[in-house]
Amino acid sequence: MSNTKYIFVTGGVTSSLGKGIISASLAKLLQSRGFKVTIQKLDPYINVDPGTLNPYEHGECYVTHDGAETDLDLGHYERFLNVLTSQANNVTTGRIYQTVINKERRGDYLGKTVQVIPHITDEIKRRILLLGSKQKLEIVITEIGGTVGDIESLPYIEAVRQLKWDLGPTNVLYIHLTLVPYLAASGELKTKPTQHSVKELLENGIQPDILVLRTEHDLTDDLRRKVALFCNVDYESVIQSIDVSTIYEVPILMQQEKLDVTVLRKMGNLASNTPNLEPWKKFLKRLKNPKHHVKVALVGKYVELADSYKSINEAFIHAGAVNDCAVEVKYIHSEELDETNLVESLSDVQGILVAPGFGDRGIDGKILAAKYARENNIPFFGVCLGLQCAVVEFARNVLGFEKAHSTEMNTKTPYPVIDLMEEQKGITEKGGTMRLGAYPCVIKKDTRIYKVYNEECIEERHRHRYEFNDKYLKDFEAAGMKAVGINPDTNLVEIMEIPSHKWFVGVQFHPEYRSTVLEPHPLFVDFIKSTIT
Ligand code: GLN
Repeated sequence: MSNTKYIFVTGGVTSSLGKGIISASLAKLLQSRGFKVTIQKLDPYINVDPGTLNPYEHGECYVTHDGAETDLDLGHYERFLNVLTSQANNVTTGRIYQTVINKERRGDYLGKTVQVIPHITDEIKRRILLLGSKQKLEIVITEIGGTVGDIESLPYIEAVRQLKWDLGPTNVLYIHLTLVPYLAASGELKTKPTQHSVKELLENGIQPDILVLRTEHDLTDDLRRKVALFCNVDYESVIQSIDVSTIYEVPILMQQEKLDVTVLRKMGNLASNTPNLEPWKKFLKRLKNPKHHVKVALVGKYVELADSYKSINEAFIHAGAVNDCAVEVKYIHSEELDETNLVESLSDVQGILVAPGFGDRGIDGKILAAKYARENNIPFFGVCLGLQCAVVEFARNVLGFEKAHSTEMNTKTPYPVIDLMEEQKGITEKGGTMRLGAYPCVIKKDTRIYKVYNEECIEERHRHRYEFNDKYLKDFEAAGMKAVGINPDTNLVEIMEIPSHKWFVGVQFHPEYRSTVLEPHPLFVDFIKSTIT
């Protein structure tokens, strides 16, 4: 039997309680004690991966180093833990069923009726256990998406119930996250929803070991005792998770609540080092005591839901802290940006980031924003589609290529400065078929970007189908927009820069996925730096 310990995190009462942050915070505490730990997310939807989901549905699609399109919680895991996640860290119901159905078609079930129990639950368990054994991890924290009581998450709950019997009681721990609402009218915190939610879990055969209670107000000792009594846990296992101004404070709060100590005690008194959170605390101190303040525009078409740009927002926070700077993000809807409101919308910002995206909705606003930044010497950062917009703008207004465009937006453009990659041309299926994951990039020496990275060969993550069209490179370079990062294997352009501009950089990849608390992304750090001075 493996030595890996498994912690399952479920949620009750409502969604959006922050299971991902609690899981990441606990993982951080365990990691800071020297354990080799990772986090996994089980998503109850039928999509095979979130790559085909509109960001409005589920927030950003996070891309891992190995090219998996995953839930945005994996971004939190990487930002907190500073370790890479992979395809195995995100499992969806769609993927589970796809595997089981493929097996059935191959005849692997030898004439048996294929059922939720045991076939679906076995596949869930296989994927949970695979992660721990493959990476030789000491602790795997698995977050179960959705809320207890949802029809969709039932097979997951059943699978993790069985695992306690499969692996033994000290190798499996259940943490349940619930809400303790505050009723303003009576001035009271209410525990009944928590009691009901635990009851629901019990009906499914799971007695939670630890309860984490989300609350807006401090829980009294009496209230904690009441929850312990009614929910059948010990007093130390009732953990308060009070609202805080930044998610990065949650590990510290969980440490104060002794969540890690209780977890280790319950998992057979696991011995460990004393936790070292000093670098984390240093980051928090800088984050909370900024000396500067900048306003940066984020121009995109999904701005109504801030989660759509989660990794970019977090990368700004990391980069801000290193620069002792509070970064205020001004969201600008690209569909609403036009000549009439351009100056009014952008004159109060010190930097402009044009966001990634797909399709032509709002594209003109993005191109206009790039133009405004270029002409007014305002720091500009184009990410993926953002780079492509900057290239289109430069082609039209500097090179005089009338109606230049990306063929994603206009297949008949006379100047296809952004075009479909050769290998993409025959592809018709949408799911998982983009250029995904990490690719190498060689940076030209004597460029600003080289100084920023301080490295010649880097690797960054991708998620796109279109590319800079090499045919026009000479024209761009002669006019002052240079290709400063190139894929050494394919010669594709990865980074474009206007060296004569204060800071004008476009990248075909997604640097935001790689930014973590302890290793902020150098491009974001330098971009923010350029907006301060
Ligand atoms: N739509 C563009 C492409 O597919 C850009 C994608 C993105 O911004 N991630 O190439």
